[in-house]
Amino acid sequence: MTVTHVLGFPRIGANRELKQALEAYWSGREDAAALEAVGRSLRRRHWRLQLEAGLDYLTVGDFSFYDHVLDMSLALDVVPRRCRREGSDAFATCFTMARGRAPGVEPALACEMTKWFDTNYHYIVPEFSPEQRFRLVAPRIFAEMEEARALGHPLKAVLVGPLTYLWLGRDEAPGMDRLRLLDALLPAYGELLQGLAARGADWIQLDEPILALDLPPAWRQAFESAYHQLQTRAAKLLLATYFGGLEDNLSLACQLPVDGLHVDLVRAPEQLPALLDRLPPYKTLSLGIIDGRNVWRADLDALLATLVPLKARLGSRLWLAPSCSLLHVPVDLTLEDGLDPELRSWLAFAVQKLDELHVLKRALDEDPAAVAPELAMARKAVITRRASQRCCDPAVRERLRQVDAAMECRASPHARRRIHQQRRLHLPPLPTTTIGSFPQTAEIRAARRAWRSGGMTTAAYEARMRGEIEAIVRRQEAIGLDVLVHGEPERSDMVEYFAEQLRGFATTRHGWVQSYGSRCVKPPILYGDVSRPGAMTVEWFKYAQSLTDKPVKGMLTGPVTLLNWSFVRDDQPREETCLQLALALRDEVTDLEAAGAAIIQIDEAALREGLPLRRSQWDTYLSWAVRAFRIAASAVRDETQIHTHMCYSQFNDIIAAIAAMDADVVTIESARSHMALLDVFRDFAYPNGIGPGVYDIHSPNVPTVEEITRLLTQALACIPAERLWVNPDCGLKTRGWAEVEAALRNMVQAARALRGLPGRQKG
Ligand code: GLN
Ligand code: ZN
Repeated sequence: MTVTHVLGFPRIGANRELKQALEAYWSGREDAAALEAVGRSLRRRHWRLQLEAGLDYLTVGDFSFYDHVLDMSLALDVVPRRCRREGSDAFATCFTMARGRAPGVEPALACEMTKWFDTNYHYIVPEFSPEQRFRLVAPRIFAEMEEARALGHPLKAVLVGPLTYLWLGRDEAPGMDRLRLLDALLPAYGELLQGLAARGADWIQLDEPILALDLPPAWRQAFESAYHQLQTRAAKLLLATYFGGLEDNLSLACQLPVDGLHVDLVRAPEQLPALLDRLPPYKTLSLGIIDGRNVWRADLDALLATLVPLKARLGSRLWLAPSCSLLHVPVDLTLEDGLDPELRSWLAFAVQKLDELHVLKRALDEDPAAVAPELAMARKAVITRRASQRCCDPAVRERLRQVDAAMECRASPHARRRIHQQRRLHLPPLPTTTIGSFPQTAEIRAARRAWRSGGMTTAAYEARMRGEIEAIVRRQEAIGLDVLVHGEPERSDMVEYFAEQLRGFATTRHGWVQSYGSRCVKPPILYGDVSRPGAMTVEWFKYAQSLTDKPVKGMLTGPVTLLNWSFVRDDQPREETCLQLALALRDEVTDLEAAGAAIIQIDEAALREGLPLRRSQWDTYLSWAVRAFRIAASAVRDETQIHTHMCYSQFNDIIAAIAAMDADVVTIESARSHMALLDVFRDFAYPNGIGPGVYDIHSPNVPTVEEITRLLTQALACIPAERLWVNPDCGLKTRGWAEVEAALRNMVQAARALRGLPGRQKG
C-alpha cells in the first residue's frame, strides 16, 4: 500500500477561527480556557479532514497558537530572562516572547521575528546564550498526542529538527557559536522523542529544511553525530527536507540513520534519480509531489507516469505527500463561490490537495479506473488552462519585447537628483515620515464590508475613505511629521488592492494564509498576462495632497513584492511575469508624477524573501528583481524622489542589490534587530538616503523618546545626518490609534531634539 501523509496542515482555520480567538484573548474579552478550546476544536477538525481523505497517518504538532519554532523554544525552555513570566496562565511567557505582552503580566521587549526560509511566514527567533541550557518543560505536543490518540488512527508527530532549530536561532554573545550547544540540546530532544513515542507516535517527522541550504562543513558534520545520537527504537524517524533540492547534501541526507526521508520534488524534481541511487534499501522515501507553496491543481497524469514505476520499485516504502507543510496555502477552495468557474477548476487549496493525494494513492494501489472521473477532471484542468485565452495578452507580450536598457535608468545619478529634490522639498535634517498605512479601524473595515456586499454605494464608500484620508492628514500635521501619507484606508491589503485593479489577477474571499501570529494575508492569484486598465492610486493621492502643504508620498507596491506575495502562474518564468508587473507600475508612477507627487514610494517589502535559498541562484534572481524595480521607478524626473520600503533586517548578503535599485531613500525594518544591520550600510558606504525603523510596529508597546533617541544615535554613528530619515519600521495598519499617536509624537520629539545638536545642521 502507498502511504499518504501531510507534513503539516494550516492551523489558522478556514474562517480564521484561531485569529479571532487569539485577538479575543489578547484583548481580555475571552480567557485562556476559551482559547485552548478553539485550539482543540481546530486540531480535531483538521485531523478529521485528514482521516476523510484517507491519509495513513494523522500529523500532530503542526498546530501552534503563534509559531511552531516558538513552541520548540518553550518546550526546551529557551526563554530569554526578560520574557519569563510566572503569569496567570500557560500563555503568559509564550505571548510575551511573541509580541512583548500577554494579558495580566508585565510587558517586555518581544523576541525578533523573521521569515521562515523563502516564505511569507514569520517565526520567532530563538535567543541562545553561551551557557544555554535545555530542559524539557511540559511540551504542548504531549497533550496534543493524547487528543489525537483518541481518534484511533496511526499517528506521526512533527518537530523542528535539532539542527534547523539551532540554525534558526541567534547567538546572544559576540563570538559564540551556537553549534556548540548541540551536545546540550540533544538529550532534551532525545527525551522529547521518547515522550512522543510513549504517547503513541509511530513516526516522528523531524523537519530539517536547512538541508536545502548551502551548509558550512561543521553543520554538515553535526548532522551525522546528532542523528546517530538521536537513534531510537521507540518510534521511526522521518527526516523531512523541503523548499529546495538536497544537492550537495543529498548523500548526507540519504545516509543519516533514520527510517525515512522526505524530499521536495516540486521545487527539485531533478533530484529523484540520485535519491533512488543513494537511498539505502531499508528506508522509506516520502515524495513531496503536490505543491505545498502554490494553488494550482496537480497534473495527476504526469505524476502517475512517474509514480507507477516507482511504486513497482519501492512498494510500501513509497510515501506521497505535499512538498512542504500546507501552512503556506489557503484552507479550502469550496468556500470560493465567487471565483470564475473555469479559473476555480484549475485550483487546489489544502483540503483539495488532500484529495489529490487520495486519488494518487487509489490509482496506484487499486487501479486508475477506480478514480477515472477524478483523473479526468484533473486532466481537463490542465488542458483548459494551457489553451485558455484569458492567460495570454499579445499587447503585453509585445510591450515586453520593446523594453530597452534606457528604461531602467534615471536621467541623473543620485548625487545630482538629491540636489534637485532638496530644492523642491526643503526638508529639515532627519526628516520624519511613516511607511504608508495608518490603523485600519473597525469603522473602515465595516465600511468596506458594506460596500463589497452592496450595502453601500461606491460614491458613499469613496466619500467615507476621503473622510478618513482627511482625518489622517490632519493627525499627521498635528503630530508634526514632515512627509505625509494618505494612510491607505482604501487598501485592506496592499497586494490585494493592486491585484483587484490589474488584469491577469484574481482575488479570493477566504484564501487566508498565516503570516505571523494572528495575522493572515490573502495572496491573490496571478494567472495571466498583467496589464493596467487605468490609474489605480492617483485620485486618492490627489485628494490627500490637496489638503496640505506638506509633501504627501504617492504609495505603490513594487513589482517584486506583488509577485512574491501572490500565487503566481507556473507556466512561464517568474522573471517574465515580474517584468509585466513592472511595466504596469511604471505607468502608475508616471501618472502619479504628472498629478504632482514629489515623492513616490514603491514598497519592495518582499524582495528579500524571494531570494533563492541557494547562493548559486542569487545573482540571476537579484538581477531580474532589481531590473524590474528600476523599470517601474525610472520614468520620473530628477526632482521626483523615489522611496522604497523593505520589511526585513538582513541585508548583509544583498546590500549591493539594494544599492543597485537606486531608490533615493530606502526605509527598512530594524527596530527589533537593535539596529545591528546598520553596520552593513556603513561598511558598504550605502550612498543614498536611508530610514532605519525606530519604532517596532509589530508590538503594541509604545517606544519612549529615550528609546527612539538611543536608536537614532546608534544610526547616526553609521549614517551621515543628511541622509538619515526617521520612521517606524513598517506600516501602522494593524495598530490602534492611541499607540500610534503616542509613538509618533515620541518619534518626532526625538528627531527634533537631535536636529538641534551642533554639527547636525547640514541639510
Ligand atoms: N506601505 C505599506 C504600509 O505601510 C507597506 C507595508 C509593508 O511593507 N508590508 O502598510
Ligand atoms: Zn514593512
